[in-house]
Amino acid sequence: MTSANPTDRKKAKALKPSSRRPAKELCSECGLCDTYYIHYVKEACAFLNQQIAELEELTHGRDRNLDNPDEWYFGVSQDMMAARKIQPIEGAQWTGIVSTIAIEMLGSGIVEGVVCVQNTKEDRFQPKPVIARTPEEILAARVNKPTLSPNLSVLEQIEQSGMKRLLVIGVGCQIQALRAVEKELGLEKLYVLGTPCVDNVTRAGLQKFLDTTSRSPETVVYYEFMQDFQVHFKHEDGSIEKVPFFGLNTKELKDVFAPSCMSCFDYVNSLADLVVGYMGAPFGWQWIVVRNDRGQEMLDLVQDQIETQPVMSAGDRKNAVQQSIPAYDKGVTLPMWAAKLMGVVIEKIGPKGLEYARFSIDSHFTRNYLYVKRNHPEKLDAHVPEYAKRIVGQYKLPER
Ligand code: FAD
Ligand code: SF4
Repeated sequence: MTSANPTDRKKAKALKPSSRRPAKELCSECGLCDTYYIHYVKEACAFLNQQIAELEELTHGRDRNLDNPDEWYFGVSQDMMAARKIQPIEGAQWTGIVSTIAIEMLGSGIVEGVVCVQNTKEDRFQPKPVIARTPEEILAARVNKPTLSPNLSVLEQIEQSGMKRLLVIGVGCQIQALRAVEKELGLEKLYVLGTPCVDNVTRAGLQKFLDTTSRSPETVVYYEFMQDFQVHFKHEDGSIEKVPFFGLNTKELKDVFAPSCMSCFDYVNSLADLVVGYMGAPFGWQWIVVRNDRGQEMLDLVQDQIETQPVMSAGDRKNAVQQSIPAYDKGVTLPMWAAKLMGVVIEKIGPKGLEYARFSIDSHFTRNYLYVKRNHPEKLDAHVPEYAKRIVGQYKLPER
């Protein structure tokens, strides 16, 4: 999308960690501004210049078909399924499909390196982006670092390393900026393996979430907002703690999510070649969206290590989403017994499979639309993509 003289960009100076980013409070710390690629920030930043449709066209050969509501939700795709590894990777977020694909891409020589995010020695949740060159380095990046992560801070190293074939693993805001500068990286081939992402937090915000929600914040090694409407915390001793969504301390947690994530409409990582999440799949399975031929090529590498089943969809999310809009606004928290009961009932009769994914997308997009409208009204029209406007348009929102 961008083109400029490489010498100009090398003259650009990376920002110091303490400097305010061009996107100000909306910055998701994607890492671009930690490099001389900051030269392109006005065009590339997902929060300064939303350009998903243009980048879809460039990446997948077409943008979303707005006559097809499935594409409003899940983006451009050529295949979708539920899958899980036959032998899960110990300590991965789910069954380790992401790490396995990355290891195979490197092992088969298709790529020379993999951009992924390990953690620092001192803190299991503090992200440390790397260009992995061995399977061990990829494995060391398994499991979510559930905080904003500057994955693109390694972009200068790519150019310096002389690598020509690269795999990047990342979430939507990182991948939007990456796609915008893709042509400038000097690569012959770039593969992008994405995960969905929502409700991310700064490291301090993560601590507040853990302290407010878990019985033992310091021993949490992993957590996920699951399809059974509960947050599952896994602790160091292997025990699983479950806290119902409806029992979360919404008032306390209202400000915990990063402003970037409260203004994000790219939950499903529209610009990755292949997306691996969980929310469109039955409990225990991962959800895979193949967006283009590069994505299929990556998935083909692990076909003999996974089992798959078609995606399914059941239930009707619309009433639950409509009711959640004022409840979130008012910061309603149910007593724990009622929250547990509600969770059980909703799990039995509530949305499943792709309908659960739509439920989650609708709830977050309506919330985020109101957030942008209230806090950045001047950005609303250009920042919210057309598909998201159509999703939000299905619901009645408060006037202000
Ligand atoms: P693993 O094999 O364990 O590999 C995980 C990979 O994620 C690693 O390669 C690592 O480099 C990368 N990674 C870890 N943390 C980050 C980070 N902060 N930024 C960028 N890359 C990172 N899926 C859904 O379906 N719905 C959701 O709401 C959802 N929310 C998510 C929120 C966050 C912050 C993240 C990071 C992921 C989210 N996912 C979501 C994706 C899901 O949790 C799993 O990451 C995905 O299914 C892959 O699981 P795995 O076992 O194959 O991954
Ligand atoms: Fe820079 Fe990324 Fe922050 Fe935008 S989101 S200001 S590109 S670091």
